[in-house]
Amino acid sequence: MSHISTVTPTFAELALNPKLLEALAQQGYTTPTPIQAQAIPVLLGGRDLLGLAQTGTGKTAAFLLPILHRLAANPRPAPPRCANVLILAPTRELASQIDQSIAAYGQNLGMSHTVVFGGVSQFHQVRAMSRGVDFLVATPGRLLDLTGQGHIDLGATHILVLDEADQMLDMGFVKPIRQAVAMMPTDRQTLLFSATMPPAIATLAASLLRNPERVEITPPATTVARIGQSVMFTDAQNKLTLLQMLVKSKDVTRAMVFTLTKSTANKVADALTAAGQPAEAIHGNKSQGQRERALAGFKSGAVRVLVATDLASRGIDVDDVSHVFNFDMPNIAESYVHRIGRTARAGRDGLAVSLCEPEHRAWLAAIERTIGQKVPVMMDHPYHSEAARLSTMKPPVMGGGGNRGGNRGGPSQGRGRR
Ligand code: AMP
Repeated sequence: MSHISTVTPTFAELALNPKLLEALAQQGYTTPTPIQAQAIPVLLGGRDLLGLAQTGTGKTAAFLLPILHRLAANPRPAPPRCANVLILAPTRELASQIDQSIAAYGQNLGMSHTVVFGGVSQFHQVRAMSRGVDFLVATPGRLLDLTGQGHIDLGATHILVLDEADQMLDMGFVKPIRQAVAMMPTDRQTLLFSATMPPAIATLAASLLRNPERVEITPPATTVARIGQSVMFTDAQNKLTLLQMLVKSKDVTRAMVFTLTKSTANKVADALTAAGQPAEAIHGNKSQGQRERALAGFKSGAVRVLVATDLASRGIDVDDVSHVFNFDMPNIAESYVHRIGRTARAGRDGLAVSLCEPEHRAWLAAIERTIGQKVPVMMDHPYHSEAARLSTMKPPVMGGGGNRGGNRGGPSQGRGRR
């Protein structure tokens, strides 16, 4: 890959369909991101791909552009209930965003696309699939519901994309994924993207991909390097007041606040709103409509602060997040990288501030091992707790509270251990 990494080509030099180039120009994109520069030529050639990249690297366009290009070059009308391309994603938010990206990049190509996910009526999803589509974006559970009922037929799907595969495995989707794949032709192009490569992903990739090209973008280091990080040691009962103080700063133009639990997310959003800082919470207990409204308000700027649990935040793609606040430290070191990566997107700088209470001191240590650096400590605030800073307390064991499954939950399971 060294021949492409020295000089970044333009999209035009990647020989993409002119209609795609027009759509890209309309988005204001001229230069491919590193994952796009590496993946697009491979995918245009029809190869399978194993992509190690997380959200924020431009991976969605990295797979959509070449797929759109190839479908436009070889149009095949999908039979009723069939899809030419199946894209599997872990959450409805990510699935919806991919569907919107297909609409944006494919706007001049007249491709049909639809998205199916759980939590809403299947009526419109079934109707959209009845005539067949070029692109189907789906979460695995609902996909299997609909194939089981005979509303979706995967027999004509010749391109499969698994996006955020590690997250899908954590959510227990490995069986539905394998069941879906078993319904597809073996003669297909398969792409698998994952932010991390635990053994379970390597096994899945080995069984699904054929002679894949591997492209690896390591944003943890580069992204982390662009983010101004700090940690504030404080006691649990002061965290809310401290957060309110921090969020008030005029430098905070758009902030994401992370909590470990849904109830804390609600509590924090309510407290901020009551204190005159309108905030919305987004988590798995909210209805699809509530989640969409909260996200739309955050994107439009009507709501400056979005409070989220780790799972709900995955794949949320909002630019210009000036600050990430870890109201609760994450109990999984990699979640820290995912969380703070919500800021400093698309080459911008960002700030990430973590509030660390005594009981979570050991989690911070695990995070520092994973990112390979110490998080600078900020003591110049009214709620500093020296006891928290010096605490050697073992953290409480988390029982998979974040839906991450027992296989990865644990503060000591840093990257180096796997
Ligand atoms: P993703 O990693 O797919 O979630 O994309 C991260 C963000 O980068 C999204 O807001 C994209 O719209 C944006 N983006 C994707 N490709 C490019 C590009 N070549 N130049 C600038 N921004 C891009």
